Amino acid sequence: YGKQDEFIVVDPYIKKLLPKRKKDSHKGNYGRVGIIGGSKGMTGAPYLATQAALRSGSGLVYTLIPKSLEDIMAVKLTEAIIKPIEDEDKGFFTLKSIEDIKKEIENMDVLAIGPGFGVDIERCQLLREILNYFKGPIVLDADGINCIALDPSILDNREGITIMTPHPGELANFLKRTTKEIQGNRINYSKYVSEKYNVIMVLKGVNTIITGEGEIFLNPTGNPGMATAGSGDILTGIIASFIGQGLNSFKGTVLGVYCHGLAGDMAKLDKGEYGLIATDILENIPYSIKKIE
Ligand code: AMP
Ligand code: MG
Repeated sequence: YGKQDEFIVVDPYIKKLLPKRKKDSHKGNYGRVGIIGGSKGMTGAPYLATQAALRSGSGLVYTLIPKSLEDIMAVKLTEAIIKPIEDEDKGFFTLKSIEDIKKEIENMDVLAIGPGFGVDIERCQLLREILNYFKGPIVLDADGINCIALDPSILDNREGITIMTPHPGELANFLKRTTKEIQGNRINYSKYVSEKYNVIMVLKGVNTIITGEGEIFLNPTGNPGMATAGSGDILTGIIASFIGQGLNSFKGTVLGVYCHGLAGDMAKLDKGEYGLIATDILENIPYSIKKIE
């Protein structure tokens, strides 16, 4: 990155959040992350979330995808463990996927659900079952949030911590408001959702807002070059990774959002805002974390 990245200064508060890696450690000490997503035509989303978790320091990442996508995902993902889930050859998860999924997520430290998941009544039902079954932290993104928008009661019996990462359009859909209304009152809508649904809220966009546990964090990193397909899927993977490594959910979320923006800022130094794509953010995660170490 030459000399340009000397311009980037990391907030001292953030530096304290990154957990140290012990000399005497192995991959089992750095979290088992389960990524659940993907459907026919949407294989990039779980791919990006998975790679982002690996690039953020996770020991083991398991990617649960509909079985008919197994071959293509096995080519795309080298380091992840791929868990093909029975899909009756449909190319998306069905209610019949639930027993397979339960078996696979039993020993996970954290889940990320949503990228490329798809939205319909059946997948809403499946999501409800997963949310009721898994007691650890869950990062809900993209179609995970769109499913909740169809039926918010899905969250009612959740016992573990839930982190929701909507962009303004997804939050608007969830609250039956317009994106303009959300953007005009970002902090209040964020607080409202985190309190009403007992979730950690990440409202993305310029100065992403994180609310929950009585705290508010406004993120300083990121740039308009990050307004590109797949950018949010990477954030999902980073947050899940830090929580899986044992960080408290709120702090892991803050650190994740910060690093994601920093990786985007470093990608911008190299590529500029126009040609920047999600893969560039992914490739800069290691450098963003190195800056914080
Ligand atoms: P998604 O829409 O789910 O792909 O998420 C987009 C990601 O890029 C979020 O993390 C946003 O905060 C970030 N992002 C998009 N546009 C901007 C912007 N103009 N400034 C800063 N971050 C942005
Ligand atoms: Mg998204």
